[in-house]
Amino acid sequence: MMKKRVIIVGSGPAGLFGALELSRDSGIEVCIFEKKSRCGGAGTNSDGKLVLSGEVGGEMPGIIGQDRFHQLMGVVDRTFTRFGGEQKIYEKNYRKIKKLVETAASFDMHLIPTKTRHFGSDNAPEIVKNIKEELEKRGVKIYLNTPVESVEKKDKVFLVKTGGKDPKEFESDYVIVATGRDRTGWWVELAKNLGLNTIKADTYDFGVRVEVPEYVFKPVTDYLYDPKFVIYKTKCTGDKVRTFCVCPKGQVITETESGLTLVNGHSFEKDSSRKTNNTNFAILVSTVLKQGFDKPFEFARNLSMLGNYLAVEGKVLVQRLGDLTAPQERRSYPERIEEIKDFIVPTLKTAFPGDIGHFIPYRPMRSILEMLERLNNMVPGISSDHTLLYAPEAKFYSNRVESSQDLETKIEGLFAVGDGAGITRGIMHASISGIVAAQAILKRCRN
Ligand SMILES: Cc1cc2nc3c(=O)[nH]c(=O)nc-3n(C[C@H](O)[C@H](O)[C@H](O)COP(=O)(O)OP(=O)(O)OC[C@H]3O[C@@H](n4cnc5c(N)ncnc54)[C@H](O)[C@@H]3O)c2cc1C
Repeated sequence: MMKKRVIIVGSGPAGLFGALELSRDSGIEVCIFEKKSRCGGAGTNSDGKLVLSGEVGGEMPGIIGQDRFHQLMGVVDRTFTRFGGEQKIYEKNYRKIKKLVETAASFDMHLIPTKTRHFGSDNAPEIVKNIKEELEKRGVKIYLNTPVESVEKKDKVFLVKTGGKDPKEFESDYVIVATGRDRTGWWVELAKNLGLNTIKADTYDFGVRVEVPEYVFKPVTDYLYDPKFVIYKTKCTGDKVRTFCVCPKGQVITETESGLTLVNGHSFEKDSSRKTNNTNFAILVSTVLKQGFDKPFEFARNLSMLGNYLAVEGKVLVQRLGDLTAPQERRSYPERIEEIKDFIVPTLKTAFPGDIGHFIPYRPMRSILEMLERLNNMVPGISSDHTLLYAPEAKFYSNRVESSQDLETKIEGLFAVGDGAGITRGIMHASISGIVAAQAILKRCRN
């Protein structure tokens, strides 16, 4: 019998887990096309927090049901662990965690007690390398530096054209698009050309990265590695605000994407000599753009660009909270950051001391300050004058393409998974979505 061929576009967690699932069946030929020179996609090569929860990181439980989600969450967790993921789960003291949740509630905040397996920036690339080697051993063909430029369906066959140095055309029976939050909008454009319906995102997530001495947040991070505080409706604006990607003893870093410089954070797990004396985390405000405004991505992008303009040479800005909230506008100068070195030394040396109040809009800024104030009630010291705020920190979401419970689009055999499909926002949900599409293909091939 002729082997069925499946082409996977993108080698982030969604693509890799789709390939792992499909390559268990020797009757299927799997090819992965990756436009970059390495596999792993976005965060799998970065801090690598595997959040063991359906409550955050995507829509998968709503799509496939809680039971299947939890079963696949176990599969993903065991797979990462098998390929070298850190064994340790921080959240063990349930009585203490319950107490933290109750205390947060008394300050009008929701604390989502998720379990986290932290690979660490020193461990994550190794795990991806091990997965890639396993796939190659099973016969999966991985083409790096090979962007997919177009996908067409003729009769029952997909024609996939690749670009790069050696452009080619491939045929396949199925295609899984796993292109992540690709800033070029390639998938959105392709979906439009293929006549697929997309549901536009109407929200932008924008905010700051906060840095405090490690001991300040320790009363919480000792029990919850990545505490997720949420205020669903702030008193000041009614917007949703949340903490995100807490990095205990971590470093503030920058990520560059399509000409923008954004703040992010990471931390090391294996190499304790690289742990710092600070903890950083993002505060993100989700602002819904009403009045028919449907370009949240472009809006947040332009805001971020303004932040880069204010910092010399496209850097990110850093400001002391005390300077931001001073009665008269006070930007932070290098001397003012230096003055507080006995209390905190910024881990991101290239950040430009300035005034983030010049480019963060009123609504998100007020919600950020409200979150800091409420956190400070629970964790005194979080909103000290010396607390450092870095910006811009922004998260962009993709438009959602209409699909079935199996993540198959209206075009039979074409699946859209992961962040690019607008249904996931983290490694766990993205990996699960890849498995879901793969299982649907396997079922069809076996029938
Ligand atoms: C810096 C950073 C840190 C993060 N940290 C975490 C974390 O700790 N925990 C967590 O849960 N989530 C984290 N995330 C989010 C997480 O990484 C994503 O949710 C997840 O990677 C999405 O997986 P994906 O497979 O859908 O897409 P991606 O991981 O984005 O992978 C998509 C892949 O497709 C490739 N591609 C795109 N277009 C094409 C094309 N036309 N042809 C060929 N290849 C193409 C891209 O190069 C990329 O490799 C982080 C994200 C970032 C940016």
